[in-house]
Amino acid sequence: HMARRRKPDWLKQRPPSGQRFTEIKETLRDRDLHTVCEEANCPNLGECWSGRNGPGTATFMLMGDRCSRACNFCDVETGGMEALDPEEPSKVADAVAEIGLDYVVLTSVDRDDLPDQGAGHFARTVEAIKERDPGILVEVLIPDFRGDPALVDRIVEAGPDVIAHNVETVERLQWPVRDRRAGYEQSLSVLERVADTADVYTKTSLMLGVGEYDHEIYRTLSDCREAGVDVVTLGQYLQPSRSHLDVYEYVHPDAFETWRRVAEAELGFLYCASGPMVRSSYRAGELFVDAVLR
Ligand code: SF4
Ligand code: SF4
Repeated sequence: HMARRRKPDWLKQRPPSGQRFTEIKETLRDRDLHTVCEEANCPNLGECWSGRNGPGTATFMLMGDRCSRACNFCDVETGGMEALDPEEPSKVADAVAEIGLDYVVLTSVDRDDLPDQGAGHFARTVEAIKERDPGILVEVLIPDFRGDPALVDRIVEAGPDVIAHNVETVERLQWPVRDRRAGYEQSLSVLERVADTADVYTKTSLMLGVGEYDHEIYRTLSDCREAGVDVVTLGQYLQPSRSHLDVYEYVHPDAFETWRRVAEAELGFLYCASGPMVRSSYRAGELFVDAVLR
């Protein structure tokens, strides 16, 4: 018998508010668009959307809200895939222009059901945003496209500024954590392909607290650096519901800070955002501008 662990204080969220928040929400609702920020009830929403110290960041979810995969840490529903909305790329581009976002993150569900796994649709959305204003920085968080280099290249050709793909966890824990179609080597190969072929920043993310050892975290970070990854983010895994993977531990903020230093000073990442509430897209705009453009 194990006592149910209470969430430590450092994971308490502050609800977002303010006029900017209301404005963005309305623009999204009018166009029937979805952000991960809202749908995942992300604790960083207030901080990200307002972009207090630089460009604001919002993360759009493309290609519907149902996924062809079933990762054990993820709250997105599996199966019952819907047809793509051919207007989605231009709708997203219009919303980005109207809201006046300077930094956009695009991500998607996995679409193993589509012939090109959704790569074309994903790429067209990047192109639509850049056509309206090439100055808008676009980060994409892409699926693994089952490691198909041609599909990865389609995304690269669309011209995003940052290409992210998440390894999510250390090698040993890939399968309790991710869908069986995902995998450590496959994800590293996607990152490597991007780093090798394009003049673009490459980024990955790991969840801590699923049972990984320190030496495994270190090894994963090194493998990612070796694959050419520039930026890494580390955050706490939180269980979306009782039917999802258990939290193994709540990692202390000091440990996150130590990993940030190791990643930046020792392993040479351009930057590492690391903390209990950090998500892949956490203040991505501000941090990117700080690290790269200043
Ligand atoms: Fe949105 Fe990502 Fe920021 Fe969360 S961390 S509010 S999902 S941009
Ligand atoms: Fe969630 Fe992505 Fe896994 Fe689909 S592939 S279940 S969206 S983490």
